Amino acid sequence: MAVQEVLRRAATLREEIAKYDYWYYVKDSPLVPDAEYDKLFRELQSLEAQHPELVTPDSPTQRVGGKVLDAFAPVRHAVPMLSIRTETDISDAGAIAFDARVHRELRQAGGGAMVIEYACELKFDGLAINLRYEKGVLVQAATRGDGETGEDVTQNIRTIHCIPLHLKGCDAPVLEVRGEVYMRRDDFERYNERQREQGLPTLVNPRNGAAGSIRQLDPALAARRPLSFFAYGLGEVQGWGMPATHSEMLDALDKMGVPVSGERAVVQGAQGLVEFHRNIAAKRDSLPFDIDGVVYKANSLSLQAQLGFVSREPRWAVAHKFPAEEQITVVRDIDIQVGRTGKLTPVAKLEPVFVGGTTVSNATLHNEDETRRKDVRIGDTVIVRRAGDVIPEVVGVVLDKRPAAVGEPFDLFKRLAGKCPVCGSAIVREEGEADWRCSGGLFCPAQRKQALLHFAGRRAMDIEGLGDKLVEQLVEGGLVHTPADVYRLDMHTLAALERMGEKSALKLLDAIEHSKQTTLARFIYALGIRNVGEATAKDLARYFGTLDNLLAADAARLQQVPDVGPVVAQSLIAFFAERHNLDVIKQLRAAGISWAEHDGEVAEELPLRGKTFVLTGTLPNLSRDEAKGRLEALGAKVSGSVSKKTDYVVAGDEAGSKLDRARELSVPVIDEQQLLLLLEAAAKP
Ligand code: NAD
Repeated sequence: MAVQEVLRRAATLREEIAKYDYWYYVKDSPLVPDAEYDKLFRELQSLEAQHPELVTPDSPTQRVGGKVLDAFAPVRHAVPMLSIRTETDISDAGAIAFDARVHRELRQAGGGAMVIEYACELKFDGLAINLRYEKGVLVQAATRGDGETGEDVTQNIRTIHCIPLHLKGCDAPVLEVRGEVYMRRDDFERYNERQREQGLPTLVNPRNGAAGSIRQLDPALAARRPLSFFAYGLGEVQGWGMPATHSEMLDALDKMGVPVSGERAVVQGAQGLVEFHRNIAAKRDSLPFDIDGVVYKANSLSLQAQLGFVSREPRWAVAHKFPAEEQITVVRDIDIQVGRTGKLTPVAKLEPVFVGGTTVSNATLHNEDETRRKDVRIGDTVIVRRAGDVIPEVVGVVLDKRPAAVGEPFDLFKRLAGKCPVCGSAIVREEGEADWRCSGGLFCPAQRKQALLHFAGRRAMDIEGLGDKLVEQLVEGGLVHTPADVYRLDMHTLAALERMGEKSALKLLDAIEHSKQTTLARFIYALGIRNVGEATAKDLARYFGTLDNLLAADAARLQQVPDVGPVVAQSLIAFFAERHNLDVIKQLRAAGISWAEHDGEVAEELPLRGKTFVLTGTLPNLSRDEAKGRLEALGAKVSGSVSKKTDYVVAGDEAGSKLDRARELSVPVIDEQQLLLLLEAAAKP
């Protein structure tokens, strides 16, 4: 490239990077994925390396990116908060190159060439924070800002429960703890799910969720966003006996009650780095939070001091990244999928893209409102995110790249001409609901298939082998209508299916048999009740202890369960009010599905807990089942025979031998009216 051309390119890159920096660091709302940004950044770095005379002091390569918002009081860092050099090669070679560089620099400084010990950590994807403790008390929290000056975010940081306000056993005059505020994946998902349900904007990714929450002005709002923290270093220190190594320093922080990740290791030389990188790469998807790589640091603090810094980065540390979890690609089409409760989900059909370690060609757009809010159209270039085992999603459009011939704004009803794409039933969107649904219920084969897949899923009944293709055949062939039919499948039927030999049929039958022994939580979740996810199913199982207790509960009782509100309660009531759902449950239990039951927390606090009733004769108004249900809902046991342990016998017309027995044993006998009074009194808070 001619010098003029290089100059022009460098200027363009700086301008573009400055724009992206502003949206990323100041607005917490990135315009492009990191991978895209890193590409431009590296190009600028390499141009500057070839032409050092072109480096300007304001080049983004020369400084830490953040800017300080006026809204926060500025905090001048006693010790600058720097960035970390990123190893560009994400293969093993990245780790080897870092070790080689450290050796080279030590040799240049006249040091020896032994095997170097490294502290290896995760590279958390969140926001860097400096926590200042004076005499063990948290007095100030600041963002990194431009590295020299950050923002005072003490009020918001105080709302993060895992950050200690007092350090255990440390009264050093000054101890600044540095680390990353981040958002766990499940907290992020749950937060977004709730926002979507209410038609409110969602967070782009956990990193922006964390950064945006900390850098916003209302601590009450920050408190509503669930954040966490991990320490990875120190800032200013006065009057504290510094250990000799980085890893011992983290151990010491851990003892003081500061959260430090357990996923760290002390290793020897390049080989140790490579092993750590591989080990964490294999675990990445199953970690409860996002990481974008690992960080290697020379473990000896004196070696760190010897190696020192270069412009905005220490020489003794490096970030070794993993494949990016966000990438750019093009939307070829938008499909609409029918879920197990009839929910219609727009799904972007993408130009295949390698993201989060796999090739992705479909990504969810969640619902119509969200698709419109993000204004995703066919032909658009979008940012796709795939992190952990969460389904890939479109997080936004790169408007800069929108072609002139882009599609229309998304309109689900128009797109489907008002009909379910699978069964042709009308589609509906009820007031206050975020989703359009197919009104076909179990008439719709798509819903039947999804309900079955959900039922057999790993977190539900865990029937290995009952996957997509098989469910398709079973439903299409009319062999399975409800989950209960799965337990009626036999060798003969299965072996006749496509791609199903005797061996795999046997394996499947084995898995079906195996699934019969389950837990109440899994069973409730497997039923696929709307709004009842895994966590709610667990809460319900814990609280009620038995399925009968759950079935007997009314809306008020259901809402006693932590995190169950009127919407979930209504879904449960509606589900159990359907005769065919109760039939399926009955058939499943008859097929031998069982779980261990317990009294449940409900029983502990229920007013009639420990009381036994016997019903006899016909009551004037209540049916036997109703009376039983209402008694059980309040914790009473309803027994079939009278004994000395019976507390009350409820007698109606034509009561027979049970009434005689009650009199014999002097058990109190009450009538329906007295029963109703007793129920009413017991139900009062
Ligand atoms: P960085 O985030 O890559 O690395 C430095 C930071 O890593 C530290 O400040 C610290 O907060 C964090 N970190 C996490 N775990 C750590 C550990 N164990 N030890 C030490 N530090 C740890 O660097 P940066 O300068 O903050 O930002 C550059 C990154 O931001 C790039 O990866 C870039 O992709 C991204 N970025 C993206 C855009 C965009 O538009 N998408 C714009 C600007 C920057």
